[in-house]
Amino acid sequence: MNIEYKRIKAVSILAKSNLYDLDYAYNPYAGCSHGCLYCYARCYTRFRDAVERWGSIVYVKENALELLAREAERVKRGVVGVSTITDPYQPIEEVEKLARRGLELLLRSGFRVSIQTKSPLVLRDLDLFTKWRHSVDVGLTITTVETGLAKLIEPNAPEPAARAKALEKLSDNGVETWLFLGPLMRGVNDDEDNIKTIIEVAQATGSKLYFDYFRMKHCLENPMKQVTKIYPHATDASSRWRANVRRLIEKLCENLGVEFQQSFPHKRESHLDLKQFLN
Ligand code: SF4
Repeated sequence: MNIEYKRIKAVSILAKSNLYDLDYAYNPYAGCSHGCLYCYARCYTRFRDAVERWGSIVYVKENALELLAREAERVKRGVVGVSTITDPYQPIEEVEKLARRGLELLLRSGFRVSIQTKSPLVLRDLDLFTKWRHSVDVGLTITTVETGLAKLIEPNAPEPAARAKALEKLSDNGVETWLFLGPLMRGVNDDEDNIKTIIEVAQATGSKLYFDYFRMKHCLENPMKQVTKIYPHATDASSRWRANVRRLIEKLCENLGVEFQQSFPHKRESHLDLKQFLN
């Protein structure tokens, strides 16, 4: 897939976050080349072309580090989410290193960082995570273990097995890890086999499990048609269905001894910080 990259100068970079476990968010990119169909970051992104061609246009905030150095000096120390509205380890990061250099700056300055990604590129920065192991946690998102389904709903993201392996390597190296299962969509990825396999990854890696359900938003009507064409109930998240899925997750987590927590709006929700778009 051809991705168009556009370079911009941001006005600010260290935004306050209203996610319950984060104080700030650092998003060095806008738009995300992973192109997930369910991603509602597009609802809040101000670059119309990136919204209309979600996944194929990414803005690179070329002055991100300069701004971060300045802003990090001015604010009270706290926890920084990297990133909250795009994947910090999407492919451009391999070249730009804005996530890595931002992490180094934040950690050296006394901040704690919480990272969420779908990419094994995160392993490139294992040296930082082990050096500052008491100030870092890393979460991988696994929505489905079925490669074909993942290709449909997360067309350009790394395969689920690669994400599970990355989580395992991080954990083996003593990094605090967690796993985000979501968004759960009715009739798509809510079957027991899928959920159990993902919870087993959390168990094997000693990771806490966060989960959440799909929430329909206006901006998702068109992209989600590609999903509902095959899975007609994908966007129907009734309270009864949610309760059934929750019971299943509770049962499986309790059986496997995995700590779990539902993510709530304004808390950890996919890796989208509603407040900022609300990136
Ligand atoms: S859900 Fe995350 S990985 Fe997928 S397109 Fe949105 S920001 Fe990127």
